[in-house]
Amino acid sequence: MSRNYLCLDIGGTNTRIGVVSEDLEVRSSEIRSTPELARHSIAEGLQELVAEWIARAKGDQRINGVVVGVPATVDEACRRVLQAPNVDGLSGLDLADLLEDVAGVPVVVEKDVNLLILSDIHDLGIDPAASVAGVYFGTGIGNALYLGGTVWHGAHGVAGELGHVPQFGHTETCGCGNPGCLECFGGGHHLAAVMKRAFPETPIGKAFVYHSAAPQIVEILDAMAIAVATEANVLDPAEVIIGGGLPTMEGFDREAFAERVRTHLRKPYPAQTLSMRYSRQGQLSGLVGGALRMSAR
Ligand SMILES: [Zn+2]
Repeated sequence: MSRNYLCLDIGGTNTRIGVVSEDLEVRSSEIRSTPELARHSIAEGLQELVAEWIARAKGDQRINGVVVGVPATVDEACRRVLQAPNVDGLSGLDLADLLEDVAGVPVVVEKDVNLLILSDIHDLGIDPAASVAGVYFGTGIGNALYLGGTVWHGAHGVAGELGHVPQFGHTETCGCGNPGCLECFGGGHHLAAVMKRAFPETPIGKAFVYHSAAPQIVEILDAMAIAVATEANVLDPAEVIIGGGLPTMEGFDREAFAERVRTHLRKPYPAQTLSMRYSRQGQLSGLVGGALRMSAR
């Protein structure tokens, strides 16, 4: 009988939960509102949700482990949430302990993009022995590192915080509290602010359709390209996966973006050799990544 994992993907708006088999079949899933789950406390809401799914999972859907993707930094043991800027009450939670109390099976907690990169490597057919960097442009800049056949967590679990690489000469305060982080110039949060200020008539979804040549938007595309090039120049990965909401927006020119990245790549390598691929993420990629994470344990 194949093993099953209960996989959660917690976002600021929605939380996805589902049972995924070790063969990566999503056997059942649902989407819940995160603020609704957190109406008493996020800890209580998640405990109730997991208890409900464990109780329901009988017979061949019996759960062998639980994995939770969080929009947060997580400790190196993959048990404790360190800092979660977009979900109230999640920071500092011993989430694995809390959920093991109700699940009765091992629980693993991971930064969400660490699960996405596993799903992307599988989905894009990338050699699992290759070194891969994932740069995910959503509200901020998410980053996952896959080195030596495994997700690289760093000494304290917080490796891959590319969005918080400081930019020389800048002092804007980032959501993390530090001055001049790259994320202040290259994420969706910044794009929304720029659009509101410079092009209040244009819906944000059309930003790249109508304003790709405007200096304000060029600056954002440059910051995004610098994020990818910085990562590639430091790590020399075989592949960079580019994902998140921004690169899938209408009018985002992938070829022009690759050129912008190449401008900043060290020559001859990795400029000549770097493969840039786009994630084909769907709603359930985080859950599939969760099952891949658990299977690799
Ligand atoms: Zn920051």
